[in-house]
Amino acid sequence: MNHDRSHALFTRASELLPGGVNSPVRAFKSVGGEPFFAQRAQGPYLFDVDGNRYIDYVGSWGPMIAGHAHPQVLDAVARTMRDGLSFGVPNPLEVTMAEAITSIVPSCEMVRMVNSGTEATLSAIRVARGATGRSRIVKFEGCYHGHGDSFLVKAGSGALTFGLPNSPGVPKALADLTLTLPYNDFEAATALFDEVGIDIAGLIIEPIVGNANCILPREGYLQHLRELCTRHGALLIFDEVMTGFRVALGGAQQRYGIAPDLSTFGKIIGGGMPVGAFGGRRDLMRQVAPSGPIYQAGTLSGNPVAMAAGLATLELIQAQGFHDALEASTHALCGGLEAAAREAGVAFHTTRAPGMFGLYFREGPVESFADALGSDAAKFGRFFHAMLERGVYLAPSAFEAGFMSSAHSEADIAATVDAARAAFAVVAA
Ligand code: PLP
Repeated sequence: MNHDRSHALFTRASELLPGGVNSPVRAFKSVGGEPFFAQRAQGPYLFDVDGNRYIDYVGSWGPMIAGHAHPQVLDAVARTMRDGLSFGVPNPLEVTMAEAITSIVPSCEMVRMVNSGTEATLSAIRVARGATGRSRIVKFEGCYHGHGDSFLVKAGSGALTFGLPNSPGVPKALADLTLTLPYNDFEAATALFDEVGIDIAGLIIEPIVGNANCILPREGYLQHLRELCTRHGALLIFDEVMTGFRVALGGAQQRYGIAPDLSTFGKIIGGGMPVGAFGGRRDLMRQVAPSGPIYQAGTLSGNPVAMAAGLATLELIQAQGFHDALEASTHALCGGLEAAAREAGVAFHTTRAPGMFGLYFREGPVESFADALGSDAAKFGRFFHAMLERGVYLAPSAFEAGFMSSAHSEADIAATVDAARAAFAVVAA
């Protein structure tokens, strides 16, 4: 594969953007090499500036659940933008979006639109603190909730990939208010709440962890957290920026039958445009400005073009059988990869939820952050590059979930598994 143009762009970018990128994991640092620069994308494919095509399992880190450049999404954007890009006064699509989210996710009786997942989680913990009058927040090791100060404590995603789970620049006094727990550990959660439950404003969790590879909740774990929060008067916050509208239409909370007090969303509800949202119980959301005193605002929040892209995407994923098909594709891919690894004699394990998956260079099961860390990152790096050379783009980190879209066909999955046979042979060599 020729990468001359990408290389030239990365050389220019590296002088002007920290690490040559606008978001750390894009830089390929943990897998080595240089990123490719995308020219365009269509369905399950990314095309780079050198004309190479990749089957894409990153999907812009989650939003492209219906595939890239879906005509219905592009049409909605084109139609909407002709009327103007931003108004600074309410527009009808914000109301339609609020109706869509609250009808799909019953625990969200009211929502506030924002511009990113980070804004959503920052705002949600402000609501938790404002509503309870308490200051401590609980999060889980390896979970990522965006780059807000309170979350860069034992964080996942790029922070984990680069060995920076606790970032310089976060005041110690603030970091001290963030308590961390090991995911899937029932007793640790009980013990923490028994000790300091009275001080805990909220517990925020990725109900399926997608930022420390992909880890599923143990049976009853989310229910246990629900009960602890209720008993101790803390708010349960599901960060569904990644899982929302993906692992089921109504997200992880629908899949596991849990009603959190607050939820955060992003990615899919923007259809590829910059969007986030937080929502939850009406009595809590009524405390948000201007109906209440907890301040939150945004110049571009509820942007009409972003709403149009998100609404078109939500319409697509409400098609009959959408999530069943996504689950079947995810299983077909993961099953095929596991079989290919077995043939090559490589220790390998996958975890899966509809539309998202984890790849581990170790034997299973993987149920905890410590298990996830036990994956051989060097082997993953070799596998990643061997797949890339064969036209398959996986997340460039051993600690990120992969994403399936409805645009990935059986032929794309078969081609991916074929590539993996050769790539596992490289890893085994
Ligand atoms: N929460 C989760 C679970 C995420 O996966 C992410 C980003 O990947 C965020 C929050 C932050 O979202 P954004 O990157 O849009 O700020």
